[in-house]
Amino acid sequence: MSESITEEKTYKPTSPNSKLDFQSVWEYDSAPESSANLEIKDQYQLFINGKFVKPEKGRYFKSINPATEEEITEFAEATQKDVDKAVKAARKAFEGEWSKISGKTRGKYIYRIARMLQERAREFAIAESMDGGKPIRESRDVDIPLVAAHFFYYAGWADKLDYAFPGKKPEPLGVCGQIIPWNFPLLMLAWKIAPALACGNTVVLKPAETTSLTAMLFAELVKDAGLPDGVVNIITGAGQTGAAIVNHSGIDKIAFTGSTTVGKIIQKSLAGTHKKYTLELGGKGALIVFEDAAIDQAVEGIINAIFFNQGHVCCAGSRLLVQEGIADKVIMKLRDRMESLIVGDPLDKNTDIGAINSKQQFETVNQYLEIGVNEGADVYQSKCEIPDSGYFIRPTLFTNVSQSNRVVQEEIFGPVLTIQTFRTADEAIEKANNTPFGLAGGVWTDKGSKIFRVGKELRSGVIWANTYNKFDPTSPFGGYKESGVGREGGLHGLAAYVNLK
Ligand code: NAP
Ligand code: MG
Repeated sequence: MSESITEEKTYKPTSPNSKLDFQSVWEYDSAPESSANLEIKDQYQLFINGKFVKPEKGRYFKSINPATEEEITEFAEATQKDVDKAVKAARKAFEGEWSKISGKTRGKYIYRIARMLQERAREFAIAESMDGGKPIRESRDVDIPLVAAHFFYYAGWADKLDYAFPGKKPEPLGVCGQIIPWNFPLLMLAWKIAPALACGNTVVLKPAETTSLTAMLFAELVKDAGLPDGVVNIITGAGQTGAAIVNHSGIDKIAFTGSTTVGKIIQKSLAGTHKKYTLELGGKGALIVFEDAAIDQAVEGIINAIFFNQGHVCCAGSRLLVQEGIADKVIMKLRDRMESLIVGDPLDKNTDIGAINSKQQFETVNQYLEIGVNEGADVYQSKCEIPDSGYFIRPTLFTNVSQSNRVVQEEIFGPVLTIQTFRTADEAIEKANNTPFGLAGGVWTDKGSKIFRVGKELRSGVIWANTYNKFDPTSPFGGYKESGVGREGGLHGLAAYVNLK
């Protein structure tokens, strides 16, 4: 007797040994998060000295939802004069009330920000997904909780700075210029603002052009939290606005997160000035999977390492190095797992991979797909459906690549993984270290001793073992080589915002 279609699609409880074909039997209905309660203004002004003010030249730029290509709102374009106004406000605040109040009171303000972020978490998560394209599951469960955790963590340090640096007297640096990228907009803001305020500094922050929405919602929150005027200033604009902050003589420290290319320009402009700086730049993380690893666990780790946030992750594991004997098995399991990833509407709670952040990045990733093919690599993409409009790219694997290929050496910043094999641990280490970057890496093995040996020899700021992309505010983060200068997070992150006497 043949089964009807209805019967085929009905879930039947199975015995542990029977096989259930998830892909053909199960379908997900859409489960969109409602954005009805999120109030987005038609236009956002600059947040300077505790007030929302119009930009000097009255110019604005549009912000797009990358999943729909529709305009969401517009942001003010800050000129050099606006930057000057913000820096002066920050200086006045630094020399006034903010440097006089106790660490305990500063801590209270930061705790208040943390609690208000938790209260408005849903609003921030929806805004982050609409403006930047990341799945709501990630902005809701990863970005925003980590943002609040950062503020909570550094609030705790505000009245304990003397204990953080025994025998030394920590003093704030003054006015900090902070420039952040578009991949974790609010989280990068938290990494910058929380430690700066805890140490008694004031800030002028510029979010990235394509993702300024949550920074402006944060500005509203700062106003509601009653922070003294000028302690936090948030100004929007493009690269030029960033450069005006970097080159302003009233700035004492630059904290930059972004590409290595722009990082190098900033480092050159800061050379010979009094300004301190930290630079958190690009990466090309290696994932090393040994034959003795728990393979299914490793496959989950790889999926998370490269497809989390569409691969727009500085520490993404974008190069898989798998030991020869298990390569075929790992690739097969990886392909199977990739087929189950849902690519689409970032606001749908089922979505695993959302939209590429902007048209520009969409074109960049597509160019790399072409480069890989022209370099002779074999390409595999999952067969999932993708929406007709918006910037979407299917999860992609490149096999048959060599170490000198551009797709192996350069940061693609998209859902694209290259796969190479190795025979010995030394070969894996050699290949892993053979790029200009050194931000993060992962090792999968059953042997603790191997983890320590390989971990020690990898020239990377962060090494995860048998897992990937785990973050915590207490843990320092930063790069070797062209991945940056300095550390953010944890005690190290405090040290970057004080002078020690
Ligand atoms: P980006 O192009 O370097 O931009 C970063 C920020 O700098 C943006 O706000 C940008 O403004 C601004 N900017 C551009 N040109 C500038 C200039 N000449 N002077 C001062 N500021 C300038 O990087 P992105 O494409 O936004 O971000 C992706 C990069 O960030 C990747 O390479 C990624 O690896 C890196 N990243 C690193 C970390 C880390 O912790 N190491 C974390 C996250 C991301 P506009 O965008 O408005 O032009
Ligand atoms: Mg946008």
